[in-house]
Amino acid sequence: MGNADSRSADLRTLAIHHGVDKDSAFNSVTTPIYPSSTFAFERVGVTKGYDYTRSANPTRAALQENLAALEGGTAAWATCTGMSAISSVAMLFKSGDHLISGDDIYAGTIRLLHDVLPGLGITTSFVRMGDPDEVRRAIRPNTRGMVIETPSNPLLNLVDLAAVIATARGHGILTIVDNTFMSPYFQNPLGFGADIVVHSTTKYLNGHSDVVGGAIVVKDAALGERVGYLVNALGTACSPFDAWLVLRGVKTLACRMEAHQANALAIARWLEQHPRVKKVYYPGLAAHPGYELARRQMRGFGGMVSFDLDLDQLTPDALFARLEYFSLAESLGGVESLVEQPWTMSHASIGEDRRRAAGFSPATIRLSVGIECVDDLIADLDRGLAAASR
Ligand SMILES: *Cc1c(COP(=O)(O)O)cnc(C)c1O
Repeated sequence: MGNADSRSADLRTLAIHHGVDKDSAFNSVTTPIYPSSTFAFERVGVTKGYDYTRSANPTRAALQENLAALEGGTAAWATCTGMSAISSVAMLFKSGDHLISGDDIYAGTIRLLHDVLPGLGITTSFVRMGDPDEVRRAIRPNTRGMVIETPSNPLLNLVDLAAVIATARGHGILTIVDNTFMSPYFQNPLGFGADIVVHSTTKYLNGHSDVVGGAIVVKDAALGERVGYLVNALGTACSPFDAWLVLRGVKTLACRMEAHQANALAIARWLEQHPRVKKVYYPGLAAHPGYELARRQMRGFGGMVSFDLDLDQLTPDALFARLEYFSLAESLGGVESLVEQPWTMSHASIGEDRRRAAGFSPATIRLSVGIECVDDLIADLDRGLAAASR
């Protein structure tokens, strides 16, 4: 099943089969875990394909084959966190290089680009990626990379991948797309010409909130070799056990994403008409400014919904205190529903100016809609929003 032909199968089939059957000893149907840190040589210079687990491991290799196929790439690397995937990719750049990034992307990525990389002589301009002209104006002679996240976090703004990537390619700029929010089930940036896709597998790909992990997927073989060299040199690869957990999670990606989306759409529509909700952000709503673009470049709208509370009527704390099924927690993409206030939680580490500029406020609430029964989730939100006002 690990053969090239199976790449042409549907993603739902690939997620379950590709790269999986690795046990020639006992023909187990699932991938064995090989926790061994080292592998014995047959004789000097001859191995059975593996020598040391930081460099390569059979369980991790199975996950990597699987993820490469799901994103339409030729190679993938599974890393120990989403941030380690992104920081490994950042090491493709060198002192004097300039990057362009969206201004409303994952806060940890902003921290890396804004606070860490300048120490290595790598600078970043943050722009509204949704505006192709603003992207074009930010390009300098030394611009080497572009970091794109779509939909963005927490307001779910869209970036036109075809347009922005075409601009980047015209200037020889490497494009890196964080596809965590959509997962390969709903969006494949490599198909729009992106050079590199990164994921926090912590989120939808694993989907069960029981592992932190990341992935890097590329199409070009030479770039793939360079990325693989960096992951080994930096030591950012994930453990065999974590690889096994993600591989298990990925098998249900398709049905989980369908369930997340169906619930999210129903909740977004329900919130839209609630008198204590001022605004709803979900790309699957016709009123969302990115709705037409979403229909063109994604195969679905995902499971993340944000909204602005009417703070004159209700405080976030009062809402959170009443919720039973939505846990007050950061992260996203697991089967269980989560709620958070980006202002004080997921995005607290970025400056207040930057948060205001991105367009959200203390009133903004972000939901990671799980796959519970949607009637129960709406009843929960209904009780929460009815909480005694301030
Ligand atoms: C969570 C997340 C990351 C970082 O992943 P970790 O696994 O927490 O290191 C990066 N990008 C996006 C969009 C995320 O949601």
